[in-house]
Amino acid sequence: MRNWKARLRKHEKNLLILAVAAVLTGVLLNINFRWLEAPLYDLRVARQSGSRADQDIVLVTLDDTSTRALDEFQPLTLDYHALFLEALEKLEPRAVGYLVNFNQVSQANPDYFQGTWATRFVQAAQRLGAQGTPVLLGTPFDVTGEVLPPYPLSSLPHALALIHKDGNVFGEDKVTRRALLTLEDKPAFHLRLAQDLGLANPGWLPRGAYTVPQIEGTYFLFSYHHDTALRAEPSPARLGGYPRMTFHEILKGNLPAKSLRGKIVLVSTLSKDNSGDWSITPFSKEAFSNPKLAVHANILDSLIHQEGVLRAPPALNAAITFGAALFVLWWVLNSSPLTGLFATLALVAGFLSVSGLLFRTHGIWVRESQPLIAIFLGYYLAVPYRLIREYKKRWDYQRKNQLLTQVEELKSNFLSLVTHDLKTPVARIQGLAEVLLRKASDRLVERDKETIQHIIGSTEELNRFISSILELNKVESKRIQLNVESRDINQLIERSVESFKASARAKKIQLEVALEPLFPVRMDSSLMSKVINNLIDNALKYSPSGSQVRIESRELNDDTGEWIEVAVTDQGIGMTPEELDGLFTRFYRAKNDATSSVAGTGLGLYLTRYFVELHQGRVEVTSERGKGSSFRIRLPLRGAEPGHPALSPEHAGASRLPGLRSNLLKLVSPELIAKMRPSRRDG
Ligand code: ADP
Repeated sequence: MRNWKARLRKHEKNLLILAVAAVLTGVLLNINFRWLEAPLYDLRVARQSGSRADQDIVLVTLDDTSTRALDEFQPLTLDYHALFLEALEKLEPRAVGYLVNFNQVSQANPDYFQGTWATRFVQAAQRLGAQGTPVLLGTPFDVTGEVLPPYPLSSLPHALALIHKDGNVFGEDKVTRRALLTLEDKPAFHLRLAQDLGLANPGWLPRGAYTVPQIEGTYFLFSYHHDTALRAEPSPARLGGYPRMTFHEILKGNLPAKSLRGKIVLVSTLSKDNSGDWSITPFSKEAFSNPKLAVHANILDSLIHQEGVLRAPPALNAAITFGAALFVLWWVLNSSPLTGLFATLALVAGFLSVSGLLFRTHGIWVRESQPLIAIFLGYYLAVPYRLIREYKKRWDYQRKNQLLTQVEELKSNFLSLVTHDLKTPVARIQGLAEVLLRKASDRLVERDKETIQHIIGSTEELNRFISSILELNKVESKRIQLNVESRDINQLIERSVESFKASARAKKIQLEVALEPLFPVRMDSSLMSKVINNLIDNALKYSPSGSQVRIESRELNDDTGEWIEVAVTDQGIGMTPEELDGLFTRFYRAKNDATSSVAGTGLGLYLTRYFVELHQGRVEVTSERGKGSSFRIRLPLRGAEPGHPALSPEHAGASRLPGLRSNLLKLVSPELIAKMRPSRRDG
């Protein structure tokens, strides 16, 4: 059970991301963002348009130039249409789609529909039909339904030529995006024309067709092949990418015979005064800019070339929305703010390009609104959440820091208190042991003498340790001031070597000294003595008997300046490159058997470096495991400045509390802390 809970906690963030993404997707999929989806759809349509318009579809416009040339007004009387159809016969087109509203024609001049002109029109159409050129009349639609052309034209093949305006289903902006294929099982104009041409069997529906049960009809989203807006193509010879001719051009009969062979001719009025001749397309929402005739051509083109747009299945849209939300939440919560922002932008760009590509190359419409809103919301939910969490983390850090500072202060007080109080009894034990050894030596057996020697040795060790701790305390509370004076460092070295002679002899180590004559240098002789002592002490401690320790001093000139250098080189255990890594940090001791068998605090080198850097000097070390080490200190010849210089980063860094110090801290009882707080005794 606990295991399960722990695992849950470990994945808490990921589970939260999953849950938020799922909820977001669930909510978004239930909202239809038509106001956003429609323009995004139009953008893709407008970007998609190339010039793939079928050049076998010819558009004949009965426009204002035609009426002007004929010295007439719209609507043109039926006689012109009959003559036009007769002229068309000679040109042998493949099919004729007649998209003129004959009810308007008959309303203006009803007489023509009773006379010979009506008969001539019907006969011309029938002759064309007999020659294998189907003539199909497009009919309008009003509240009563399909409006048939007046008799006798109603006896000719006709079909509903409706241009669908997106009024209440999708964009609600009157833009034409889809086309009616069938209504109550009857094929509409474009499908019927395809059937008459033998390009579609009865009952066949093009790619992307879908049923709208409310009206018992089928629709399809057709492709636009070219910008339909007239401004995009001012040429009188083209309309929406399709070849264009004017009505009177054909009517004049000057065109060579058979010049429309193989062409599907669509005829329609295109009057600047009649809004019914115009529609709104994804290219332009301006009135009187997109001719309805060009839209008809695009519908027919999409139908016969199978270019209907396929709607991606709802499951795919849901998966994309979920994936997008997941991606954004994950990136924003798991990376830096800038990376999160870039990842989000990259996702938007990537998604839009892929969906654009799918539309362009495969005619597949992936909904973009929900994934985009999921990305947007995901980002705006994740960013504040992250800010809150980071703020909390920072606050926790601050508190911990405060606590740490307090603990450091207590620890420092504690150490100084304990070491001070230890110093006197330890000195007393050492003194008494020495007195005992001296005075009662003739009465003691050899083993007792050895024991007393051990006591003296251990108290010396304890003393060294106490001194190091006091020294460290001074360093950490920045209470060390340099007392500089001009001194010959060789004197300090000689004195130090002298004090180590006995222990070197005891360990059978040969101390070799090679000192160059040097100028006196300004330094704190007490601190520098400690440095030299520590280096010689280490060299002796970490060397086997019979080896040699060499102490040298010299003057150095290089591009960094003039220096005096003291080098202590041994033939001892040496160190590996890994062991050298933390060498000058507090309480550091190399982890090997040889080191652990030697008593030490791990403070000597830390203090050495600190003291040398106080003199604006440097410490260097080279060492090889099993071969020996060489420690070199360099002091500037111009000498150290008195006062307290800045600390090096390591020395100024936050304290780690390994080993002994942390153990000491564990001993601090609340009462002791209370006792220590008021007074701070200097070491
Ligand atoms: P201590 O000698 O009290 O442990 P130091 O700070 O003087 O502390 O030295 C730190 C560590 O560096 C030692 O524990 C030892 O592992 C290593 N070290 C120092 N000097 C030498 C040396 N001359 N040869 C080999 N190892 C050394």
